Amino acid sequence: MTSLNSIPMVDLRKQYLALADEINASLSEVLEKTHFIGGENVQAFEREAADYLGAKHAISCANGTDALHLAMLAAGIGPGDEVITTPFTFIATVEAIAYVGATPVLVDVDKASYNIDPALIEAAITNKTRAIVPVHLFGMPCDMQAINSLAKQHKLTIIEDCAQSFGATHNGKQTGTIGSIGSFSFFPSKNLGCFGDGGMLSCNDDDLAKKLQVLKSHGSAERYIHSVIGYNSRLDEIQAAILRHKLKKIDHFNSERRRVAAHYCECLSDLPVQLPQLNFVGEGDAIPVFHQFTLLTDQRAAIQKELQDNQIASAIYYPIPLHKQEAINGLLTSTPHCPNAEALSEQCMSLPIYPELDNQSIERIAGIVKNVLSVAA
Ligand SMILES: *Cc1c(COP(=O)(O)O)cnc(C)c1O
Repeated sequence: MTSLNSIPMVDLRKQYLALADEINASLSEVLEKTHFIGGENVQAFEREAADYLGAKHAISCANGTDALHLAMLAAGIGPGDEVITTPFTFIATVEAIAYVGATPVLVDVDKASYNIDPALIEAAITNKTRAIVPVHLFGMPCDMQAINSLAKQHKLTIIEDCAQSFGATHNGKQTGTIGSIGSFSFFPSKNLGCFGDGGMLSCNDDDLAKKLQVLKSHGSAERYIHSVIGYNSRLDEIQAAILRHKLKKIDHFNSERRRVAAHYCECLSDLPVQLPQLNFVGEGDAIPVFHQFTLLTDQRAAIQKELQDNQIASAIYYPIPLHKQEAINGLLTSTPHCPNAEALSEQCMSLPIYPELDNQSIERIAGIVKNVLSVAA
């Protein structure tokens, strides 16, 4: 239980309470029906999510890590193949590449957007490269126009990691519908989160959709007929029922996140910190959804301590770039040159952000950051 003046990174309870009546009613219905796996809410959610995204297919699965893994498998990526992605992401992005025996190739990020720098991708492409995995980190879309044209030129698959970007758009298209396959997570703290684990894939290609559907269902398109060795990766009926309610509100939640980010930027504008981009910088335009509000500062430890003393949460996403992680380092065939990702890991800090965070709280947090920086100056 949080005390009156404490501010968490994310307040899932507030969001639950606002939707409690409708969610509780749907949950009772699911419990009464006892159709816990493969029920009507799962089907309805897949259709509603596909409609929302403007994707031909949405295929639910057990979590975001599975979604990435299934995407790799459906795209036919395996041993000997190289997959290009960013070192500044959650480890699941690269785990999925390792699961299929492929080699991750890590390309440095742009220091302003925190996303993979499209200008550096071409030099990393070899005759073994099969795919690019852009991660729309913290809800800011990658420069998909640049990445798409590289992929087209080199005939590469694009698997978008949208775990942090549900509802973000680039040139009017939803993330997850721009490349070949989109991969989503509904982990409780994501922009669209359920009350446990959940995940989803999106695509427009019928064959890919069929492959994903078979792979997530024990290699079976028809009950007890198994064409390949598949997996058990299901979104359950309870989670789907919850997600259907939250999906209806996702545009509101995301616009509230943009309000929070804009207000932080207003309050922190004169300080010696690098603020996250409010607006997309790249080819075309994009609307971010601020899964995190992440700034860069060389006073990180001091700010975190002062926030903590005032019962305000903060976090470091991510403290170690993936090429420096023991689990990943051994998989790399060359040492990546990623000075920006390394600098970000040393300077990044994320402040509380969630749709229900009010302006007064933002001002209180910003005031503390300002105090620390004025003492340090
Ligand atoms: C959360 C996350 C994942 C994994 O999702 P899970 O549902 O936790 O398995 C993958 N990639 C990124 C960028 C994430 O933030």
